[in-house]
Amino acid sequence: MGEVVLAVDIGGTKTAAALADRDDALLRTEVAATPAAQGPVAVVATVVALAGRLLAGSGLRLSGVGIGTAGVVDAGTGTIVSATDTFADWPGTPLAALVRSGLGAHLLPDAPVAVQNDVDAHAAGEHRHGAAAGAASALVVAVGTGVGAGVVLDGRAVRGAHHVAGEIAHLPVPGAAHLRCPCGRFGHLEAIGSGIGMHRHFRSLGGDPGITDARGVALAAAAADPIARRALDESAAAVGRALAGAATLLDPERIVVTGGVPNIGESWWLPMRAAFHAEAIDALQNTPILPGTLGDDAPLRGAAASAWRRP
Ligand SMILES: [Zn+2]
Repeated sequence: MGEVVLAVDIGGTKTAAALADRDDALLRTEVAATPAAQGPVAVVATVVALAGRLLAGSGLRLSGVGIGTAGVVDAGTGTIVSATDTFADWPGTPLAALVRSGLGAHLLPDAPVAVQNDVDAHAAGEHRHGAAAGAASALVVAVGTGVGAGVVLDGRAVRGAHHVAGEIAHLPVPGAAHLRCPCGRFGHLEAIGSGIGMHRHFRSLGGDPGITDARGVALAAAAADPIARRALDESAAAVGRALAGAATLLDPERIVVTGGVPNIGESWWLPMRAAFHAEAIDALQNTPILPGTLGDDAPLRGAAASAWRRP
């Protein structure tokens, strides 16, 4: 098998880990529930257990570890800066150091342990191997239960002075003033553009209380429910407007949109693109907006790249 690294994707509900080769190809993957509510020691123990399962009987030792995790991350030190309440005691966790000591002899001497935000890892995966491959710069946006983005400029991930560069979730967008964002403020993109936001917007318009999520809203819209159609249109348009704003600031070569909400299909992509084109200045009108191609593998492949000490 040659040299391998461990790639890890720590999400709010599950943790995936894979052995990857020099091309960031995933050789073997294992998944476990994330014990987020039990605190950092339990989360690290899960990562170590997954690594043990992946390496069992192989005789291999790891040339590096790359981790993408929920939360705001100081990628320079591998420490969690802040996180949602889903993860107990996550802020301040020196994740790179804890994983290094947990893995112990599974690591080759001097093997790097790199930690970054999961959406940044996702963006790195799509940039190296997916829909943004070959582009010098890219904005990769994930629209699911929440909204996140990673920015690559001149081939390098942009982290920012406070580790939150690319946090498109909290851009103010027109049409969301009545909706509270998970950050506690009103009018941000995530409050209307996420799957949860789309459903909340639907309910705020007086939509059927028997419909409990964005999938239900999309199904009702397809069945010509006018409130569902409006909620879907306005949720998608909010994403398109935010992308136009972000593109104006960054001028990325490509924009990649991934996640569960874009999987709704053309009924989401059409109003999203229409809003982008209505807002974007002429020079940005031809910026490609592409669906992601790697799916759930994207954060693992991006994490693998970081394990090989690539930016
Ligand atoms: Zn917010």
